[in-house]
Amino acid sequence: MAATPDRPSAATPRRKAGRHRGEGQWAAGHFTPLNANEQVKKDDDGLNVRTRIETIYAHRGFDSIDGADLRGRMRWWGLYTQRKPGIDGGKTAVLEPEELDDEYFMMRVRVDGGRLTTEQLRVIGEVSQEFARGTADITDRQNIQYHWIRIEDVPEIWRRLEAVGLSTTEACGDTPRVIIGSPVAGIAEDEIIDGSRAIEEIQRRYIGSKEFSNLPRKFKTAISGSPLLDVVHEINDVSFVGVRHPEHGPGFDLWVGGGLSTNPKIGVRLGAWVPLDEVPEVWAGVVGIFRDYGYRRLRNRARLKYLVTDWGPEKFRQVLETEYLKRELADGPAPEQPVQQWRDHIGVHRQQDGRYYVGFAPRVGRVDGATLTKIAELAEAHGSGRVRTTVEQKMIVLDVDRDQVESLVSGLEALDLRVKPSPFRRGTMACTGIEFCKLAIVETKERGSALIDELERRLPEFDQPISINLNGCPNACARIQVADIGLKGQLVTDRDGNQVEGFQVHLGGTLGLEPAFGRKVRGLKVTSAELPDYVERVLRRFQEEREDGERFAA
Ligand code: SF4
Repeated sequence: MAATPDRPSAATPRRKAGRHRGEGQWAAGHFTPLNANEQVKKDDDGLNVRTRIETIYAHRGFDSIDGADLRGRMRWWGLYTQRKPGIDGGKTAVLEPEELDDEYFMMRVRVDGGRLTTEQLRVIGEVSQEFARGTADITDRQNIQYHWIRIEDVPEIWRRLEAVGLSTTEACGDTPRVIIGSPVAGIAEDEIIDGSRAIEEIQRRYIGSKEFSNLPRKFKTAISGSPLLDVVHEINDVSFVGVRHPEHGPGFDLWVGGGLSTNPKIGVRLGAWVPLDEVPEVWAGVVGIFRDYGYRRLRNRARLKYLVTDWGPEKFRQVLETEYLKRELADGPAPEQPVQQWRDHIGVHRQQDGRYYVGFAPRVGRVDGATLTKIAELAEAHGSGRVRTTVEQKMIVLDVDRDQVESLVSGLEALDLRVKPSPFRRGTMACTGIEFCKLAIVETKERGSALIDELERRLPEFDQPISINLNGCPNACARIQVADIGLKGQLVTDRDGNQVEGFQVHLGGTLGLEPAFGRKVRGLKVTSAELPDYVERVLRRFQEEREDGERFAA
């Protein structure tokens, strides 16, 4: 394999080695890889694996795949091996990676801004049915995720997706991942600014470019001009949040350094206002800082949030302005508190142009290829050619005339896609879990779906916004730390002393302008079987004790 040069191709800042020399920052002269992941990236750029997939692996099959490609570089094209069926969660931590690997892949399709045409949705549905055993989940970052993908089929899947403008480029890996965007960008009546153009421009200029294909770790972006703050901007590496500047008008407030997983951090404001046209350049400056100054020694300290914590917002902004943008940014205001707690755009809402958009809730993001195809057909039959995915694992059909709304709502409800969901259907999310994820300890999707049914049956009168997020392991794919009720999958001891699937409970997490991480209540663990009883008790107590206007997280 061709080795990458010793130094990054992009401009390297002239900065002397500092006190963090040992963290492996390129800007401190550390180009010698300090761990196995960094070595893999230095040996060959992750993007280069595509050629090997197309010319070798797809023809010779799974066993021909180089180990460093299989468990490393294939992520640069949205491919992870999935978990071998039948391995219980107790073995997750003790088996070697190759013992957990199935010969099938999860494939992530990036859906930047959550924007899809019905033509694209049909192709996603076709690929699901033809190559992915019908699977197609909506993730909490607006992506679509397939399972059961064979390496032999990958080139044909790419051909079909790319023919309609979709891709899996940098959907995973140490790269700029999907750019999440307001799912009602350009259509919502209350919009401050439409960030779509910035998302398209970042995609066009930088996604798939080797300028940013070797970052210390993944890099997450959110851009929204919605006053509902609908893209979880608080927990992205960089976020552009719509605000009105008193002199300059609509633009974006710049946030950096958010992230969950180990050592969760809420992003910090840099106090800078960015006009729409400058978002791509500022974005590239922030990613450049991460590439050059980001910590590469330890994987668990490699996210941007650690650098931001060490530097603080003032120094981060100063380095961004002086070394990357070569100019100062304007100061700007903070976003305002949203007027409502639900941020998911579920229900029927008027658009700027007088038509309507209709947001609906599948169960915990679980749909399938056949259902996605039917959604595309329904949308088209009611005059729409556009749909969107949300960061709550929901979907929206856009551009519906008033006289078509009722019929569309009936059609969606007939597919069990609720336009008027219960708070439980609306507020419950679940990660992939043990069904396919190699890191999982417990099952999540079925558990989350069953929990919704139980809570709807037991608490039909409950009408408060509530978020219940289930993770299959201590990672943060379903954002448990910022949920009202966060459930972290682990093995727990049941009444008979057996080790069984269960959850550590975190209570009272929330996002918004006063974000908080849920409190991990010591000893508060429930078995999966006891989960409905436990959540019912918590919600009943909240209902009985809450004062007027009090939210669950208060
Ligand atoms: Fe897998 Fe854990 Fe992420 Fe769930 S939270 S998808 S189990 S890594």
